[in-house]
Amino acid sequence: MAIASGLPAGFNADSYDMIVVGAGYAGSVCARRLAEACGFHVAVIERRDHIAGNAYDYVDDAGILVHKYGPHIYHTQSDRVHQFLSRFTEWTNYQHKVLANIHGTLMPVPFNHKSLKLAFGEERGEALYRKLVETFGENKKVPILELREKNDPDLQEVADYVYENVFLHYTMKQWGTTPDQVDPSVTGRVPVFVGDDERYFPLVAHQGMPAEGYTKLFERLLDHDLIDVFLGVDVRDILMVDEDYAKVCGKPYGGEIVYTGPLDELFGLDLGALPYRTLDMQFETLDVDQFQPVGTVNYTTSEDFTRITEFKNMTGQVVPGKTTIMREYSKAYTPESGQTPYYAILEDENKQLYQRYLARVSRLTNFHPVGRLAEYRYYDMDGVVASALDLSDELVAAHN
Ligand code: FAD
Repeated sequence: MAIASGLPAGFNADSYDMIVVGAGYAGSVCARRLAEACGFHVAVIERRDHIAGNAYDYVDDAGILVHKYGPHIYHTQSDRVHQFLSRFTEWTNYQHKVLANIHGTLMPVPFNHKSLKLAFGEERGEALYRKLVETFGENKKVPILELREKNDPDLQEVADYVYENVFLHYTMKQWGTTPDQVDPSVTGRVPVFVGDDERYFPLVAHQGMPAEGYTKLFERLLDHDLIDVFLGVDVRDILMVDEDYAKVCGKPYGGEIVYTGPLDELFGLDLGALPYRTLDMQFETLDVDQFQPVGTVNYTTSEDFTRITEFKNMTGQVVPGKTTIMREYSKAYTPESGQTPYYAILEDENKQLYQRYLARVSRLTNFHPVGRLAEYRYYDMDGVVASALDLSDELVAAHN
């Protein structure tokens, strides 16, 4: 792999079989697969000054490995995704746990046996738990909508407590909404875990953290003789797309283009900007060994921020006497602000706007939008890797 800052003078797009826009999971996975399977010479163009997209991590001034764009916990049910990524990293056996700070008491989420006893007291909590076990059986995730449907006052009480103290205020902070704007279909999916397992992803096949971090994983993923990475280049300076052509450096481009950036930006937002929420992340290094007992504590009934992450608790890194934490504040996103668009606001109107942008590239057989931005959706890391592997399969089949 060659990594360069900026494009060289006289950059010749035609010397590449494929141009990949974005060095996150979506772009990097496609680059690697096509270089390996088809012998494609690939140019990866990334506007940030680093690879790894939103999964980027780095060592801060205190020597602590932190995640620049928010805490990333790897978890997947997909053996294919796991096998592919495991070529580029070993994994720690980190099992993610989340606590909610509810009126000053830390309770496991998803709400479980222990949380019930903390919320309702030992005796009443145990009685409610027995009712849940009798009704649903043990080691099950039950959405609060299902608790409500039973029309049982005890189960209703649990559902109401979880809704009010774990879900409602947190969701309002996250999405900037009032209670009546909170989508009931989302509300109903909030789970209770009938059991003692305190893991956030209790029933998942693979979870952990990349042993040397995400950026190292990406360095290996992109480390291939046929892949060149150009950092600090906004592709809009060289790529122009209309309904019939994709032009690179002013000439129609005959190779494949894998595009993982936002589609609206490619058209100068001329139909309007696709709405997102962004996050303001405030890092702080403290002179203590440990600040909180787990990786993430959600503040579900108080504070302006949504959660605090303590990175050492997730990475397992040992740095005596120091720890770095990060508070997340959720805000509205505006494209001109230079903020990162994090969460697509998936309302019907916005999805329709996205479809109008997508329709503009549908005639281009060599232009492939993939990933969280280009598809205007939320993906976990494993979902985006799976999607990039599927697209790669199609491209490999077309070129072999
Ligand atoms: P990105 O990683 O965003 O990569 C796209 C790249 O394209 C970016 O680097 C961008 O700079 C570049 N780009 C865009 N436009 C241009 C342009 N015009 N020119 C050049 N380059 C351009 N997933 C999990 O599985 N577990 C988690 O715990 C988890 N936590 C998350 C926490 C937060 C706060 C957020 C927001 C997401 C989290 N995710 C998590 C999801 C994960 O971040 C995404 O699934 C993944 O990063 C998406 O990869 P991508 O390649 O689609 O997009």
